[in-house]
Amino acid sequence: MQPSVGERRSQSFDRVLSSMCTEPHPAARAAAEAFLASNPGDPATYDAVAELEAEAVDLLGELAGLAEPHGYVTSGGTEANVQAVHAARNLAESDDPNVVAPESAHFSFTKAAELLGVELRTVPTDGDHRADVDAVAAAVDADTALVVGVAGSTEYGRVDPIPALADLASDAGSRLHVDAAWGGFHLPFSGHDWGFDDAAVDSLTVDPHKVGRAVVPAGGLLARDARTLDALAVETPYLETPTQASLTGTRSGAGVAAAAAALEELWPDGYRAEYERAIDLTEWLAVELGGRGYPVVGPELPLVAVDLPDALFEAVRGEGWKLAGTGTGEARIVVMPHVDRGTLESFLDALDRLAGT
Ligand code: PLP
Repeated sequence: MQPSVGERRSQSFDRVLSSMCTEPHPAARAAAEAFLASNPGDPATYDAVAELEAEAVDLLGELAGLAEPHGYVTSGGTEANVQAVHAARNLAESDDPNVVAPESAHFSFTKAAELLGVELRTVPTDGDHRADVDAVAAAVDADTALVVGVAGSTEYGRVDPIPALADLASDAGSRLHVDAAWGGFHLPFSGHDWGFDDAAVDSLTVDPHKVGRAVVPAGGLLARDARTLDALAVETPYLETPTQASLTGTRSGAGVAAAAAALEELWPDGYRAEYERAIDLTEWLAVELGGRGYPVVGPELPLVAVDLPDALFEAVRGEGWKLAGTGTGEARIVVMPHVDRGTLESFLDALDRLAGT
């Protein structure tokens, strides 16, 4: 007989190497439980969780270099990216708007373009997997409503040249959206130019349910000005508040409360310590893998892509290591908070044993 739901446990993070989700912070777990039945989509009725959402947005704004942020806690990076495209389309003057994004952009932009009926122009990256500014410039025209930059790409952890993309976008009369869904909690400590105070960024995705250590679901959409959320707002006649800008109606109070709790607990010192721990470990791992003769895409943030022989890739997966490939087949190892030196030593031991070295 199958065990009941109450008897089951979710998977352990022991061998999870490619996911961008992680073990939530204990304060986030507790807050999630306390706000399980609250709906931030109805902020006048659920005012306590609405206050927590405002606090979370303020702290996310601090992290991303924006003193007076506008935004909300989304269901994840996908919703935040869809809404960034949605706002750009609604604000565009063109009847036939397009979005220009590097090929490294997350597939959520494909969903956004399909849903919103805008053309997605995907342009090649440079030899090191970052947006190629000349290629972006060649694709931008008078109908471009949005240029997308990625700050921490899903496959290689690369940070695009955000200030150059912002200049290009503003010269073209377009908006700039930065997708820092995963990278955003590392970037304040890494020395990159990526946020609102580094460039003319209009909107930005940064997800508490990834490196932020909130519970799932908690993404983040931030905008420089009120216009962005106004462009998304619809009237809500049967709620106590007049309009709603989020894509979903009823939303997770657990995600919102957990985001506020994790940020209150960890911003900035806890996240700084995690960045330093994770980048040191990533650099060590890259050297270990390279030393074994496997071609490595050198890390910029805590993510290594490594080209393993196909049979070896499949063999380690067969032993329960959760490993996913890039579009060109390299294995991605994301050094998330649950990945420690012991995990990576066991992984390397498994590789050595299976490779017969
Ligand atoms: N943007 C980036 C850069 C990501 O890496 C991801 C997911 O890994 C997303 C957006 C989508 O986030 P979510 O899965 O929370 O919708």
